[in-house]
Amino acid sequence: MTLPGCLWDDFSSAQSCNEADSIPSTADVVIVGAGLTGLWSAHYLQQRFPLWRICILEKNSVGFGASGRNGGWCSSLLPMSLESLEKSHGAVLATAMQCAMHDTVDEIDHQITALGINCDFHKGGSIDVCRSQSQLQKARTRVDTARRFNIDADHLRILSASETRSVVNMQGALSAVFDADSAVLHPRKLVNGLAQSLRQRNVEIYEGVEVRSLSPTRVHTSKGDIDTGVIIRATEAFSSSLKGHSREILPLYSLMIATEPLTQTLWDDIGLKDRTTFNDGRNMIIYGQRTADGRLAFGGRGAPYHFGSAIRPHFDRNIKVREMLEHTLLELFPILQGTKFTHHWGGPLGAARDWHSSVTFDRATGIATAGGYVGDGVATANLAARTLTDLISGQQSHLTTLPWVNHFSRKWEPEPIRFFAVNTMTKLASIADNREAKTGRGSQIIENLLSRLTS
Ligand SMILES: Cc1cc2nc3c(=O)[nH]c(=O)nc-3n(C[C@H](O)[C@H](O)[C@H](O)COP(=O)(O)OP(=O)(O)OC[C@H]3O[C@@H](n4cnc5c(N)ncnc54)[C@H](O)[C@@H]3O)c2cc1C
Repeated sequence: MTLPGCLWDDFSSAQSCNEADSIPSTADVVIVGAGLTGLWSAHYLQQRFPLWRICILEKNSVGFGASGRNGGWCSSLLPMSLESLEKSHGAVLATAMQCAMHDTVDEIDHQITALGINCDFHKGGSIDVCRSQSQLQKARTRVDTARRFNIDADHLRILSASETRSVVNMQGALSAVFDADSAVLHPRKLVNGLAQSLRQRNVEIYEGVEVRSLSPTRVHTSKGDIDTGVIIRATEAFSSSLKGHSREILPLYSLMIATEPLTQTLWDDIGLKDRTTFNDGRNMIIYGQRTADGRLAFGGRGAPYHFGSAIRPHFDRNIKVREMLEHTLLELFPILQGTKFTHHWGGPLGAARDWHSSVTFDRATGIATAGGYVGDGVATANLAARTLTDLISGQQSHLTTLPWVNHFSRKWEPEPIRFFAVNTMTKLASIADNREAKTGRGSQIIENLLSRLTS
C-alpha cells in the first residue's frame, strides 16, 4: 500500500513552490538554499545589519530539503568525534565545540520564543538505549570519553536498567546513555515560522530559482545574475549538483515512517512522557520521537547511495527500508503490533569525506559555506549561522575560533569507487548489527572498518 509522504507537511498543506517571476540584480547578501542554514543565517545577519538587502534563493520551496523533513532531534550531537577534534585542534577546542553545541539547543529555544514560533519544541533530552553487552561497552566508552573532555553528568550519564525503563520501555534494554542537551521539535513548523518572520523583516525569499554556479561577488541563476558582496552556499546535501562541487558533499539518504496517533494505553506502556528522543546503540543509525500529537516518528539509514551522487524525488521512499523501519520499531516496542503506519518519507543529508561538518568564509571571494552535518544538522545549522554572521561581520568571537571554522575536507573519490565504498559501508553496518543481534557480540573488525570509512 502506498502511504502519504512527509508527516510534517500535514501541518500546512500548501508546500507548493511559489515561483518568483524575477529576482533583483543586486543585493548585499545572497543566500543559496532556504533550509535551516540559510534561514538562520538570514535571521542573524538581518538582526546585525537591519539595513542590508538580504535575498534567499531557493530552487524549490522553503524547507524543501532535509530541514523540512527531518526527525526533529534538536540535539547537541556532532558528526565528528571529540577525539578527532582533539587530534586536529587539541582538547580545549574539542570541549569548546561540544559546549557550543550544548548552548545552541538553548539558543534555539530562546530565539523561537522571542520570534513567537510554536514548533512543538520541548527539551526532554535523548536516550541511547543499550540492548547488548557490546552496546553497553560502547556506551561506557562514550561517557568516559566525555568526562575526559570535562562533559559532566549533568550533560551526559549512564542510566541503570530501571532508570532506562522509567524513560522508555524498550525491549531488551540493559542500560542507556542519557543526553540532557537535546530537544524535540516539528521541523515544518520551524522552517515555516522562520520564513514568515524573515519576510516580515523584509528579507526577500525567492522560490523556484535555481542557482547554477557561483563566482566571486556574482550568483548565476535560472532567472538571471545577481551581484552581491557576500554569498552563502547553504545547499548541504544538494551541493553536489552545483557546478564545480560534485565531490565535496555526498548525499546520503535517510528515510522515515510515522504511526497513527497512539492510544494512552500504549503510551502508558512505552513511556517517553517527556518526549525524550530515542535510539539504540546499533551501527545502522536509527532515531525516533514522540510527536506532539501522540505518534511515533521513526527513521534510519540503510537506503542505498545512488551512483554519481544522484538526488531524485523517487529516492525519498523505498519499500525495503520502510519495511525494515516498521520491523525495527516493532522489535523495539512489540506492543505496537497491530498499530497502523500512516506516513513514509525521507531525503538526502550531506556528508563530507572525513565526516566533519564545517563553516567557511573567504573574504577575498565573499563566498561562505556551511554544512556536512551528516544527520545532526537541526541544531548545528543554527551554530553555523551565528558563526557565519561573526565571520562575515569581521568580528572575532569564541565562535570564530571553533575547530570547524575554515575546515576543508578532502574530496570524495570519483565513481565508481564512491558508489562501491558507500554502499559497502551500509551493508557492513547491517551485517555487524545482524551478527550482534544473533550473538550479543559486536564485530570489532567491521566496526573498525566502518570507523575508518567514516573518518
Ligand atoms: C530524513 C532525515 C532525517 C533527519 N533527521 C535529523 C534529526 O532528527 N536531527 C538532526 O539534527 N538532523 C537530521 N537530519 C539532517 C538535517 O535535517 C540536515 O542536516 C539539515 O536540515 C540541513 O539543513 P540545510 O539548510 O543545511 O540544508 P537543506 O535543508 O537540505 O536545505 C538546502 C536547500 O537548498 C536548496 N537548493 C539546493 N540546490 C539549490 C540550487 N542550485 N539553487 C537554489 N537552491 C538550492 C534545496 O532545495 C534545499 O531547500 C535529517 C535529515 C533527513 C533527510
